[in-house]
Amino acid sequence: MNYNIALLRGDGIGPEIVDSAVRVLEKIGEKYGHTFNFTPYLIGGASLDEYGIPLTQETIDGCLASDSVLLGAVGGPKWDTLPGNMRPEKALLGIRAAMGLFTNLRPAKLYPALKGDCPLREDIVANGFDIMIVRELTGGIYFGERGMREGKYGEEAYDTECYSRMEIERIAKVAFETARKRRGKLISIDKANVLDTSRLWRKIVHEMAEQYPDVECSDMLVDNAAMQLVRNPAQFDVIVTSNMFGDILSDEASQITGSIGMLASASLGDNTRGLYEPIHGSAPDIAGQNKANPIATILSAAMMLLYSFGLTKESDAIIGAVDAVLNAGYRTADIAHGGEALGTVEITDKIIENI
Ligand code: NAD
Repeated sequence: MNYNIALLRGDGIGPEIVDSAVRVLEKIGEKYGHTFNFTPYLIGGASLDEYGIPLTQETIDGCLASDSVLLGAVGGPKWDTLPGNMRPEKALLGIRAAMGLFTNLRPAKLYPALKGDCPLREDIVANGFDIMIVRELTGGIYFGERGMREGKYGEEAYDTECYSRMEIERIAKVAFETARKRRGKLISIDKANVLDTSRLWRKIVHEMAEQYPDVECSDMLVDNAAMQLVRNPAQFDVIVTSNMFGDILSDEASQITGSIGMLASASLGDNTRGLYEPIHGSAPDIAGQNKANPIATILSAAMMLLYSFGLTKESDAIIGAVDAVLNAGYRTADIAHGGEALGTVEITDKIIENI
């Protein structure tokens, strides 16, 4: 098959890690008989330098015309003093909105070979963990009515949360179907003891659970979930939650893996085109030094193969190669603890050798 992929390399380490993922995809194409056509577009600081804005219509159109999009990271000190709407990070919200991406999938997996990086006690993570957080991305309090006003005690600010049945149903559907492809366990996280939006969320998730009898579905309050993630992370398979709760819990889950350079993400809409990116930033402190860990971006490409193209065995081949390289003891500097470290290019070579 032929697939057209838009590449948004971005800033800092973005170009290095995206190029690693491209090399891995080329190897997959060679081995499994697919052609991946890559078209680069500028985003973030790189776009500001060239066009004076962080996201151009050309980049948006290029992404919308592609089968899927792979993004590195944006931002850096050079653009930090620009006003909010001209910041490189503004381009991320812009491209997500333009592509209609309402789902964010964030896996948080503890690799057996990297148990030592996990900040949790050894007995807590003895069995590892492998969590998929399904976060609603375009609704809730981040997009609700907000403002400043004079109140009873003077100056005050407010933000409102609103969720429609349509928004809850479509994210819950993604979550149930994701659970079906994994271990069949879904935990919906809300604050139904306080919030009306959560009560509607819970009611709709329960209604939908009847259509998915093969998925074991339960609820958890968000405050309890924050505790359970550090108490017993292995109890979670798929989590579904609102925009703000997902923002906070997915960062907590990523931190307990202990290795930010390993975590991939996917943002999806109502077609197969998605935006795939590592969860970390542009790491300007190590940019251009062949020190970046490309694994999060390589695993983002593996998610693209699975979620956008339905190429399960090709995706598994990448994941297996990453596992093999880690199990063989190869590390980049961020996960080497002062031990011997490979560069971005060299660890990519090792992963390619294992495909
Ligand atoms: P960061 O994630 O870029 O870096 C945090 C620390 O982790 C740094 O020490 C960095 O060297 C290290 N690190 C991150 N990714 C790594 C990798 N793949 N390999 C090895 N080490 C890695 O976060 P930050 O320093 O807070 O932000 C830097 C810039 O990135 C800022 O401009 C920020 O706005 C931007 N940012 C962009 C995104 C995005 O594009 N999605 C996300 C977060 C931050």
